[in-house]
Amino acid sequence: MGAVNPPPSLRARAEAVMPGGVNSPVRAFRGVGGEPIHARRAEGAILETADGRRLVDFCMSFGPLILGHAHPDVTRAIAEAAARGTSYAVTTEAEIEMAETIRGAIPSVEKVRLVSSGTEACMTAVRLARGATGRNRILKFSGCYHGHADGLLVRAGSGVAGLAAATSAGIPASYVEHTLVARYNHLDDVERIVAEFGSDLAAIILEPVAANVGLLQPYKGFLREVRDLAARCGALLIFDEVITGFRLTFGSYQSVCRCGLRPDLVCLGKIIGGGLPVGALGGRADIMDRLAPLGPVYQAGTLSGNPVSVAAGLAALRRLKSDMPYDSLAQRTGAYVAGLAEAARKAGVTVQIPTIGSIFSLFFMDRVPASFEDIQQTNAERYKALFHSLLADGVYLPPSPFEVGFLSTAHDEALLEGTLPAWERAFAAAARVG
Ligand SMILES: *Cc1c(COP(=O)(O)O)cnc(C)c1O
Repeated sequence: MGAVNPPPSLRARAEAVMPGGVNSPVRAFRGVGGEPIHARRAEGAILETADGRRLVDFCMSFGPLILGHAHPDVTRAIAEAAARGTSYAVTTEAEIEMAETIRGAIPSVEKVRLVSSGTEACMTAVRLARGATGRNRILKFSGCYHGHADGLLVRAGSGVAGLAAATSAGIPASYVEHTLVARYNHLDDVERIVAEFGSDLAAIILEPVAANVGLLQPYKGFLREVRDLAARCGALLIFDEVITGFRLTFGSYQSVCRCGLRPDLVCLGKIIGGGLPVGALGGRADIMDRLAPLGPVYQAGTLSGNPVSVAAGLAALRRLKSDMPYDSLAQRTGAYVAGLAEAARKAGVTVQIPTIGSIFSLFFMDRVPASFEDIQQTNAERYKALFHSLLADGVYLPPSPFEVGFLSTAHDEALLEGTLPAWERAFAAAARVG
């Protein structure tokens, strides 16, 4: 009798039927190498893999899960909404409440359109800016990711940062010829581009805190200058707050910086869907009213404002509004990364751990990066060693040196404290890599 073949692994089955075995590239672990994990279930801060490992999750679905996995408010809202019907394609009171909630929380937002992903929100924002201004060009920043719409996939961060060519194949040059790119935190780039192309600039789009190449924070005054430059040349300013919206405060970055900064349009996603597919676009009423059916800028979606997504998002936002966990999340994150910095110091490895609110990232380099170009200096091999050591010890970081980590309200102090020995071993493993 021959040996019985073992059943094919999930990875083998996945790779046989899905490109790279995944439905979104970072999940394939190309950024860190090794065996990608497969999920079975998750609760709170714990992700359980298909082979039964329980991991303390710092990836947290790349951002939506500020309340942790399977928060009971959210899962109950989903079940109740689903039982009332999963899609009507007519307007519901819950959608109105969602739009009212967003408008109430974000000073620059007067009207809102719900869509189904962050990609769709950014794509629509850019189309709307072009339609409203009658101009063609847009300015984005290298390392800022605005979803995978054709014209925005130019030097776009995490998922593409590791690839040889930063721009995707399959995008005709003519689609991106109107996309101009400046370096983050480099006002001189913005000034030069505005001077040359300002009269045809429809929009300047950026993440006010860039969180798709690891974490990049704006220099003091940078956003204000960008706001002024956009206004002066008649371009709209679009803040992509798909990650930062409701992550740093109950609202958006314009409330965090307390500087009265008003973008013309804001893109949202992730947290406002409570872990279900969602996106939103909000802004000045005179601009938003250029959207169909009132205006000439077309945008539509069979599942836009989906009642189950909206119920999940509203449940999450209600919980956030009543608990206001932002200060305690920021404090817990700050204390935790101080512990990580100490573990790195003990291992004799130089690391930068920029942090804002409950977002952190890890760069193996000797100064805090200010731009995507700076981040290229990070030692990705060290990150890989760190990642795999942590994973073996039951701690799941984002599987790429160019993604940020997240804490949720479910990451309590005891749980965090319990991971510190794993970090000490992981930094020691990283230190062994040249
Ligand atoms: C995640 C993200 C997007 C894209 O959202 P999807 O829902 O993945 O399409 C856009 N912009 C930013 C800043 C993001 O973090």
